[in-house]
Amino acid sequence: MNTEQNLLSVETLKKYFELKSGFGSPKKFLKAVDGVSFDVNGNSVFAIVGESGCGKTTIARLLMKLLDPTDGRIIFKGQDVSALRGEALMGFRRSVQIVFQDPFASLNPRMRIVDALSEPFKIHKLAPKHEIKDRVTELLMKVGITDEALYRYPHEFSGGQRQRICIARALTVSPSLIVADEPLSALDVSIQAQILNLLQDIKKETGIALILISHDLRVVHYLSDEVAVMYLGRIVERAKTEDIFKEPLHPYTHLLLASAPEIRHAKSANRIRPAEQGDVPSPVDLPQGCSFHPRCSKKLAICDKIEPVLKEKNGRHIACHLYNSE
Ligand code: SF4
Repeated sequence: MNTEQNLLSVETLKKYFELKSGFGSPKKFLKAVDGVSFDVNGNSVFAIVGESGCGKTTIARLLMKLLDPTDGRIIFKGQDVSALRGEALMGFRRSVQIVFQDPFASLNPRMRIVDALSEPFKIHKLAPKHEIKDRVTELLMKVGITDEALYRYPHEFSGGQRQRICIARALTVSPSLIVADEPLSALDVSIQAQILNLLQDIKKETGIALILISHDLRVVHYLSDEVAVMYLGRIVERAKTEDIFKEPLHPYTHLLLASAPEIRHAKSANRIRPAEQGDVPSPVDLPQGCSFHPRCSKKLAICDKIEPVLKEKNGRHIACHLYNSE
């Protein structure tokens, strides 16, 4: 079991997308991720939550090296991933796997399951040819799929079964970290609990660390050890999961919890006022100061002038003038 501390460090990571602008107009950027930092330890689940468009999925793509950052660093097992080449880069690609939201789009419709799952074994030379089928069967069994699936195609399976197959494929290379980007949101509610339990079992049995990207707070509450709350490209609060759900501090975290009735905490429900239900500002034209101030019923005079920075207090990190000025 992998119990490495500090498996991954993300340091002031930024990703800006340049937008098309008219001839002679000033350049405009969408700041999808704007100075995000966090650490993930081995054998832990780190959740990133926030409304759609807050930058969660861009972080997943940066972590997978599917996008290059505008600035900042990603350190994996002590190495800056931007400097990895050749064998070291192959090793990184093996160690960090992703499970996407849509299990159908993630599987090649023309490939039988046995071929899709054999591929990583062949690419990374992980097993002798004659052993690969047994290894694939073993992995499918681990995720609750029988060997009858081997010679079938993705369209022959339900959404939940396809997601199990995608998880099995991620496990083929014995990764240290799986990035799960909204792994349940394309599935029926009745199936979600099964996949959630599967992810929980994998965490317990293998010690693989998980970065769980989700807008679903029930999932985050159930599975994660630590939570980062993102708003418009920045982390506004980061803390242990139990602390976030027991005593949210940032007004935006209150809003998120208040909009999840099934886990709503009394402290959040009572403290949310109508102003906080307003529209999210454009990520291209962020308001000055705290980006949450147009929606915040607790804003102070300083809030539309100076941007709060993420500061540590009693083991929790928060970017809000209500706490930073104390
Ligand atoms: Fe509200 Fe001000 Fe805190 Fe932003 S910094 S969340 S506007 S109190």
